[in-house]
Amino acid sequence: MCFILKKFAGLQGKTLSPQIPKTTFADDAEISAWAKDAVYLFQRCRLVAGVGDGKFAPKRPVKRAEATVLLVGYLRQTGQLPPKANLVNPAQDIDDKLLSSMLTELAIEYPGLIRVSSAGTSCEGRDIPMVKFGKGSRYLYTEANIHAKEHQTTNFVMEVLDEYAYAYETTGTYDGYNIRALLQKYTMVILPRVNPDGANIAQKGFDAAKNPAALRAMIGANQGASQWKSNARGVDLNRNFPCYWAPVGTGPANKEYGGPYAASEPETKAVVAAMNRYQYDYFLDIHMAGNAIYFCNTGIDNAFYAASKAFAQRLCNKTGLKLAYSKDVKSDHTAAAYARDRFRHPALTVELTASTVFPHNSGKFYTEIWPYVKDLYLEAMSYQ
Ligand SMILES: [Zn+2]
Repeated sequence: MCFILKKFAGLQGKTLSPQIPKTTFADDAEISAWAKDAVYLFQRCRLVAGVGDGKFAPKRPVKRAEATVLLVGYLRQTGQLPPKANLVNPAQDIDDKLLSSMLTELAIEYPGLIRVSSAGTSCEGRDIPMVKFGKGSRYLYTEANIHAKEHQTTNFVMEVLDEYAYAYETTGTYDGYNIRALLQKYTMVILPRVNPDGANIAQKGFDAAKNPAALRAMIGANQGASQWKSNARGVDLNRNFPCYWAPVGTGPANKEYGGPYAASEPETKAVVAAMNRYQYDYFLDIHMAGNAIYFCNTGIDNAFYAASKAFAQRLCNKTGLKLAYSKDVKSDHTAAAYARDRFRHPALTVELTASTVFPHNSGKFYTEIWPYVKDLYLEAMSYQ
């Protein structure tokens, strides 16, 4: 089937652009020599994945679902079928499995615009996905769900991907912004879920974690798993960054323990590596409670403070969030404080909603979150 489709593409004068490197199948020797080029072309376009265990099994009958992925994917990738709208439903809890399938679908739907890779692996071995979205040479770096119980921040960035990508490929505009021009100037680097183990705890309870008894011992009386902020080792990742790090808290807890030393946690290391790889122009760390944008630390020089404040004020004007500043950089140890100190570009902590009572209800996404902040990144990319 790959062979026939490749021939057909040639007849149509269509060229496919590979999105991922070639992975040689374990049973490569069984694939006929005349079909190999075609099989690996579609593998690199993410339209052929084999049967599992790294095998392709060329002699088996093709399943209906595989044929659909191949044919529909071919039409989409060659611009003969418009993208599907609403691949993401953010009005529900998004667990790891759902997040992974949404990301795969988006990457297939928007080849060349959305690229999914991995930023690292969590304590319990979960993937920390990383998305590159856009075609520009400037970077807008953003991350969500570093705090476990704030897992609707993942829903927010996923809805952003879904809505912005569809607009980019269809009308080219969104809410009056020239989204196509903005995403040709910028690439968004998105970590949609920095703390996947924590999100799993907050969504599914302690028994869904590897060591439920240890977690129960870390949390205060009468507090359920839905109040969890830390990672699966009881470290509050947003107090673990290597920025004038000093101990916070006395030991593993559901929140506010900074870890045994700076960047002790694999999730923190993944963020630090991503930031250093894509040295951002703007950084937005997405949180969930307090209706505010924290723009800078005290103890930072006046010029940088003023520049950060002006940028944040613009986003506050657009979203209705309140302007706030953080405590002294030498007592902070957050992702944003690290970013400011290291790169000297605006780095904001954005608290999306007013409610500080958890758990938040994902079902209220479209009434309580989205209408206010949907243009957040477009306004940021329009700033300069
Ligand atoms: Zn938070």
